[in-house]
Amino acid sequence: MSAPDTVTEWGTPNLGQTVKITAVLHEEDTPFQHIQIVDSLQYGKMLILDGVFQTSEKDEWTYHEMISHVPLMLHPHPERVLIIGGGDGGVAREVCRHDCVTQVDLCDIDGRVIELSKEYFPSIAKVLLDPPAKLHVHVGDGIAFAKSVGDFYDVIIIDCSDPIGPGEGLFTREFYRSAYKALRKDGLIVQQSESPIVQQHLVHDIYCAMKDVFPIVRSYFSHVPIYPACMHSFMLASKVYDPLTAEISRKAPEPMRYYNEKIQKSCFVLPNFYKECLLEGKMSF
Ligand code: SAM
Repeated sequence: MSAPDTVTEWGTPNLGQTVKITAVLHEEDTPFQHIQIVDSLQYGKMLILDGVFQTSEKDEWTYHEMISHVPLMLHPHPERVLIIGGGDGGVAREVCRHDCVTQVDLCDIDGRVIELSKEYFPSIAKVLLDPPAKLHVHVGDGIAFAKSVGDFYDVIIIDCSDPIGPGEGLFTREFYRSAYKALRKDGLIVQQSESPIVQQHLVHDIYCAMKDVFPIVRSYFSHVPIYPACMHSFMLASKVYDPLTAEISRKAPEPMRYYNEKIQKSCFVLPNFYKECLLEGKMSF
């Protein structure tokens, strides 16, 4: 049978995004998910989990910079960071750029994602290939990992797949309560919270669940070309620091290709439909 020359992700049953590919470079079923690595003409190599586009060589920085530096620059002195998921290494690469960060724990449930990312995405996984002393990689369930620590982390970044399969439990009030306990008294978390265009119900549900646990919950967004409708939301939940009012006291690492100091605040300025989705659960699409 000839290799397929396209691959499609269905963001909804009625909306797909298709990329032309030159080859399926690797494909396997692990105990947690179906992993595909393809070589696309538009975005270079792409990682796909259970049919969902995760990251690509060409656009990964639009996501990894924004999920990492917005929370790390909001916290005035982040030292200890936990990354849940993130097996491709992109978030760990960005977090390790902050000199004030002295300990980074990465916990991904699937060691095969880590191994394959090292092999096929060396630019994304570079700190996994040559880990700095402050980086500790764990293979396990992030839910159990968060439960196992208390009053320890300054920032927790939940760079997980969609709320299907192993990622489902990372979108629950019970998990957010564990994350709350795992944080120090002024800690904060951020989670990729799906598309405010094609997954509005998820964005609203995640916002409401975090609001039941944290005093401050704010959403921001980035433009991620390989994600449905190219707009991707993040949910930031904080014990003390409010991204709408906090003054940023440090300079961010440079160079950056997406993040800049003005975006630190402007990314929280939301279009009306997005605010209605968050606050009222109003679905516009
Ligand atoms: N960083 C990429 C991006 O740009 O969006 C994609 C996210 S990363 C590949 C998603 C990771 O979450 C996967 O490697 C998956 O194994 C991991 N994951 C899913 N459920 C998890 C859980 N319960 N605990 C830890 N890791 C989990």
